[in-house]
Amino acid sequence: MLTGKVALVTGASRGIGRVTALTLAEQGADVVVCARSAELLTEVASQIEALGRRALAVTADVAKTADIENLLEKALATFGRVDILVNNAGITRDGLLMRMKDEDWDSVLDTNLKSAFLLSRALAKVMSKQRYGRIINISSVVGEIGNPGQANYAASKAGLLGLTKSVARELARRNVTVNAVTPGFIETEMTDALGENARHELLSKIPLGRLGQAEDVAHAVLYLASDHAGYVTGQALGVNGGMSM
Ligand code: NAP
Repeated sequence: MLTGKVALVTGASRGIGRVTALTLAEQGADVVVCARSAELLTEVASQIEALGRRALAVTADVAKTADIENLLEKALATFGRVDILVNNAGITRDGLLMRMKDEDWDSVLDTNLKSAFLLSRALAKVMSKQRYGRIINISSVVGEIGNPGQANYAASKAGLLGLTKSVARELARRNVTVNAVTPGFIETEMTDALGENARHELLSKIPLGRLGQAEDVAHAVLYLASDHAGYVTGQALGVNGGMSM
């Protein structure tokens, strides 16, 4: 399905990014993976190679412009193209608005939103020349409905939705589609921190009555990356057990 395509997945050492990178590789893509720490990342690269694809692991902090430049330079030097960009790297620094520190705002916005702007801007040129591209931004249901204690995170994820739609309009004529996935609560390290009470209360708000799995999100990304989604752009695909209907 994705044979001959090159994907770049940020935050691919664990959680949703890892499963997404492996899912794209299973379908034929060569994959560039990045994260801040190298250890788990090289494991993911080995798993991609074990599937018979080429992999490139680059340690990079997507909140740092210089790291993004280095990541892109290495990706393009190795593969000569990038067809699929998955802006997945994300962090939380939760706290109520009145106590939120400037650095908690800045680090979340830089990691979750500015990185997607920087990578999209750079790869828009590459994809436009190729007359082919897929940009997929991992937003969140929280960007659509808000969440107390997550003003910074929700703002970054809502920002991704605005970025998605604007860039989709700008690049549509170049055959580059730009979409978002808005996961609900997915079982990863990010949600492991939830206490028993919070988890119980959360489940009562999810019509399907369970948390999602990283695979649920990865398959939505796969669809948007595939030729089956060639006529889909500027959309946000909710993968949230029905939380936002
Ligand atoms: P996770 O398990 O915490 O994994 C995050 C990944 O991003 C790791 O590979 C991490 O590796 C990398 N990362 C974090 N900061 C980075 C940075 N500055 N530069 C490069 N890589 C960075 O998170 P997840 O649950 O899979 O979430 C993935 C995405 O889905 C995030 O954007 C998140 O907001 C979104 N999402 C998650 C849920 C959920 O319920 N889990 C719901 C909605 C949306 P290093 O730490 O080594 O850098």
